[in-house]
Amino acid sequence: MKAKISEEQLNRYSKNMDNTIAAKDRVIAWPRMGRIDIPLKALVHNLGAKYIIPPANSNEALELGVKNSIEGICLPYKLNLANYIMALENGANTLMMFQAPGSCRLGNYTKMAQKTLKKMGYEFDMVIFDMYQSKMKQTLQAFWHVTHCLNPFSYYKAFSLGFNKFFAIDEAQKLLFYCRPREIHKGDSEKLYNKWLKIIDETNSIWKGKQLVKKIRKDFQKIQIDKNKDVPVVYLLGEFFVLLDPYINQDIEKTLGEMGIEVQRQIWFSEWLEGVLKPSILNKKESHRERCVRYAEKYMKRPIGGECIETIGDTVFAAKNKVDGVIHLMPFSCMPEIVSQNILSKVSKEEDIPVLTLVFDEQTGKAGYITRIEAFIDLVKRKKMKTKNKERKGESLVAC
Ligand code: SF4
Repeated sequence: MKAKISEEQLNRYSKNMDNTIAAKDRVIAWPRMGRIDIPLKALVHNLGAKYIIPPANSNEALELGVKNSIEGICLPYKLNLANYIMALENGANTLMMFQAPGSCRLGNYTKMAQKTLKKMGYEFDMVIFDMYQSKMKQTLQAFWHVTHCLNPFSYYKAFSLGFNKFFAIDEAQKLLFYCRPREIHKGDSEKLYNKWLKIIDETNSIWKGKQLVKKIRKDFQKIQIDKNKDVPVVYLLGEFFVLLDPYINQDIEKTLGEMGIEVQRQIWFSEWLEGVLKPSILNKKESHRERCVRYAEKYMKRPIGGECIETIGDTVFAAKNKVDGVIHLMPFSCMPEIVSQNILSKVSKEEDIPVLTLVFDEQTGKAGYITRIEAFIDLVKRKKMKTKNKERKGESLVAC
């Protein structure tokens, strides 16, 4: 059992936060990553707060982040900082920040960003969500601090809608990954995915929120696909932010899907959020992280920060489950993923699974990495064919 939350921890949100901004004057903003803006918007809106959503990550944002960050800091930090600057320029005065401890730099992001933004002359309050210490109680406290909402029904509606939207977006994305390489009419799945993003965004009733996943599944069944097509399956693994943000990973899921590859991810924002917010006593199933620790045991004894152990554990899991290949995504200079990259060559050899590592930084051009992906996919397809031929030979020998 986990130790009880200390008094100091319980008070950290209210004590350390700026109380000079009245709740009615607060304009909240948070960093961009994939489409987490949709559920967060629903959450904050239903608690009666004003918010600003910074523009989606782009070359312009990256340029701004690079200009105001120290050299060598990782790419997610630079984009987060740019998101904050853009939001503050548009009137935000309360910034939400996710933080996690460990040997990775994410633990220092908040202080660094705060210092940099203050130096640039911005006045704001930063509300920290320490995801590995904060369970539901502290999360509610942080939302109370910025909204001063006292209505329990508003909290119920905000959290119910927020959670259901997180799950709905992830479900739509999983179905998109499955249908895209098999669709008969090119573009059908993406069109449907975008239609659902809009519906998810516009949904503002608890009951409709709960129906979203079911309706999305039903709608995707209408897409005409070639069920018999031999589609190789590739796991996308690596650093959280690079995995989840299509700007930073240059929309690799789409590129692979259009090459006829089914992409599968083991890291989903909804599942991660559920895992960190749910009291551990209610988590009966083995979590993704626990599974990774188990599968990675031969190569790594303990987590070292970031998604390092997930990368190793999921690669072993992929090999054991006959997944055709693994693409490992990492930002330039990310310490935990540099460690995984080094271990992965051994894992790939011993577990007999093709692995490709792609490193992203502000200089990464699409053309360069497309050539590497194409070569990797060729390798994956050849290996798949070889395995099939072997199996066929085995079958005919048994028949003789
Ligand atoms: S995991 Fe890597 S990229 Fe992500 S915050 Fe940590 S050091 Fe930076």
